[in-house]
Amino acid sequence: MNFIETRGNDNVKPKEVTFSQAILSPSASFGGLYVPKTLPQLSLQDIEKLKNKSYKEVTSFVLNDIFEIDIDKTTFNEAVSLYDKFDDSKNPAPVVKVRDDLFVSELYHGPTRAFKDMALQPFGYILSSLAQKSNDKYLILAATSGDTGPAALNTFKNKANIQVGCLYPDGGTSDVQRLQMVTEDGANLKVLGIKGNFDDAQNALKNLLASDSFKSQLEKLGLKLSAANSVNFGRIIFQIVYHFWSYIELLNKNEISLGEKIYLIVPSGNFGNALGAYYAKKMGLPIEKILIASNENNILTEWINEGKYDLNGKHLIMTNSPAMDILKSSNIERILFDKFGSSRTKELMNDLNVKNGFTLSNEELIELQKDFGATYCNNDYCKDTIKAYLEDAYLMDPHTATCIKSYETLKEKDLKVVVYSTAEWTKFSPTVLNALNKDTDKYDDLQALKMVQDKFNAKIPDVVNEVFTKPITHTSVIEKEDIEKEMIKFIS
Ligand SMILES: *Cc1c(COP(=O)(O)O)cnc(C)c1O
Repeated sequence: MNFIETRGNDNVKPKEVTFSQAILSPSASFGGLYVPKTLPQLSLQDIEKLKNKSYKEVTSFVLNDIFEIDIDKTTFNEAVSLYDKFDDSKNPAPVVKVRDDLFVSELYHGPTRAFKDMALQPFGYILSSLAQKSNDKYLILAATSGDTGPAALNTFKNKANIQVGCLYPDGGTSDVQRLQMVTEDGANLKVLGIKGNFDDAQNALKNLLASDSFKSQLEKLGLKLSAANSVNFGRIIFQIVYHFWSYIELLNKNEISLGEKIYLIVPSGNFGNALGAYYAKKMGLPIEKILIASNENNILTEWINEGKYDLNGKHLIMTNSPAMDILKSSNIERILFDKFGSSRTKELMNDLNVKNGFTLSNEELIELQKDFGATYCNNDYCKDTIKAYLEDAYLMDPHTATCIKSYETLKEKDLKVVVYSTAEWTKFSPTVLNALNKDTDKYDDLQALKMVQDKFNAKIPDVVNEVFTKPITHTSVIEKEDIEKEMIKFIS
């Protein structure tokens, strides 16, 4: 399987690259992204054969046999064996029945308690192995809205030939998320809070990735540059697999029959998770539609319902689902490419850069709506949902809760629904406690964790308890203008 570029080729970069090239050097011509040249197809018989297989076997089938990525078997198997670190090594992403037609796929059972581990654990291993084999040294940049940072630091910590520079929005994450980052102590890790929001962090990352002067400074230091965000296809490819897994889980439990369509509901920010679902659908998984859930930063809702992606006059709002506090969603570019081709994508992304927005034609909007529906909810709706579902004996985090609005309002057909739970409640305990108590008191994370644990008999994993006692090793909070300077200081 080879990869091509969303904005076409500039006659400098190679016209096609392999998977390993795309993940080592994720910046494509004209600031575009790498995408698969064609999407391989699975038949219903293929899907049937995956029944009762382990998660690792399903991953190997989809990525090795179907995608044929150019990673040697030993490295691939070692990477995938990192799912053994999850709560249940046989089933890292269990699907839980909540109502007759409602299932939750829990993607947060890994070491940092959010869905980013699903991809970053194996991806981090593969990237470090490639760097070691080619004897190259890499600086990996990660911009985080709260969960990519901890997951990237965890996966790359103390890996040979790898240094990680992680940027988080100061004040834009939960305490647990921040502590997970600032207490990580690997000598190859640098964590920087920035005075700005996630979009600022991700912009800085994209500018550094595309900057020739930054790259030549790195070159002098003997370093190459890559990224841990979902601009990197190494993240996306592992995020295709669990959508197949959800379907297989429903088959295994006799909740659906082979070929029966289901809805997937994805709480979205950078659109990596939803893109994985879209690729799974195009590869033949029987998905009726992918329903996108957002918080009050509802630019994706507007895009999917009206066809316009318009940043003008919009400001990022801080909500109680901070991992989705994003306006510039990177992976919609890959959807635009898949549906409308590279020259149209280049045009639309240029409009986004120059005019701060773009608008699809009516025909294009109809195309988009064949695969996607979308809605959003505010903080109060989100908290009411958390409380209501605890009465159904299901405890969910605020990101997962945004999906329930889509479940209640967007289903057009009587089909089973899988909602993706992207984080454990323990990462956002003050919001969860406010929801359950129906109060607006200010709790700190530690207090809220204990209270939810005591009152509702909920379990807190050791990895969450531990962040409160580990020493803080990263204390810098910097202006966004100083990011490049600080990165150079770190690697020199
Ligand atoms: C990253 C994240 C999201 C958004 O996922 P995307 O793939 O960026 O759309 C949603 N919820 C949580 C908890 C996350 O960490």
